[in-house]
Amino acid sequence: MRIGILGGTFDPVHVGHLVGAVNARHLLHLDTVLLVVANEPWQKVEARPVTPASDRLALVEAAVAGHPGIEASSLEIDRGGVSYTADTVAELAGRHPGAELFLLVGADVVSGLDTWERVEQVRSGVTLVAMSRPGTAPVDERADVLRGWRVVSIEIPALEISSTDLRARAADGRPLDFLVPEPAIRVLRARRLYADTTMDSSSSGC
Ligand code: ATP
Ligand code: MG
Repeated sequence: MRIGILGGTFDPVHVGHLVGAVNARHLLHLDTVLLVVANEPWQKVEARPVTPASDRLALVEAAVAGHPGIEASSLEIDRGGVSYTADTVAELAGRHPGAELFLLVGADVVSGLDTWERVEQVRSGVTLVAMSRPGTAPVDERADVLRGWRVVSIEIPALEISSTDLRARAADGRPLDFLVPEPAIRVLRARRLYADTTMDSSSSGC
C-alpha cells in the first residue's frame, strides 16, 4: 500500500490543496492521500488565532466527500495536543505495516524542514514529495536541507491560492466560489466561519 500524507492547517481547505493531492496521487500511484488536519499546528498557533480543529476537519471532509483516493484524516485531532508530523508518521506506520509512506509538502515548506520536531524520525519513515507551488522556485533535490531525505520533486498546476488569502476574502466579503469546493463553502457558511461575510456576490445585496 502506498499512502500519501498531506498535512496542513486547512484554515480553510482550498483547491490548491486538493489539486496537489490528486496530482501527487496520480503521479506516484498512491492508493490514498490523507489530508491530515493539524490539531494545534505548532508553527501557527502562536502567530494568529486558528479556527477550531473540528471546524477545519468538517471543511476538509465536505471538500473530499465522494472523491476516490482522497480522505480527510482526524488522526492528529484524535491524538490531541500539539501536532507533530513525527508522531503522525509513526502512528500511520504502526497502523499500516509494510505500507510505503509519502509525505507531500508544498515547496514553501521544504526550506523549514530542518526546524521540525524529531525530523530524523520523519526522514527515515517517508519519501518526501516536494510539490512546486506558485511563487516559489522549483525544489532542488540536492539542497542542503534535503540531505539524507528520499525526495521526489513533482510539478503540479500552479494555483495562486492560499488559506491566508481566503481568510482575507471571507473577512471582507469577496467570493470564495471555485476557490473552495462548494460543499465546503456550505459548511463554512452554516458554521459562520471566517466572519459572517462569506456570502457570494449574488447574495450579498446592496
Ligand atoms: P496559510 O496561508 O494559512 O499558510 P496554506 O494555503 O499555505 O495556508 P496550509 O494548510 O498551510 O495551507 O498548507 C498545507 C500544505 O498544502 C502545505 O504543504 C502547503 O505547502 C500546501 N499548499 C498550500 N497551498 C497550496 C497551493 N496553492 N498549491 C499547492 N500546495 C499548496
Ligand atoms: Mg501555509
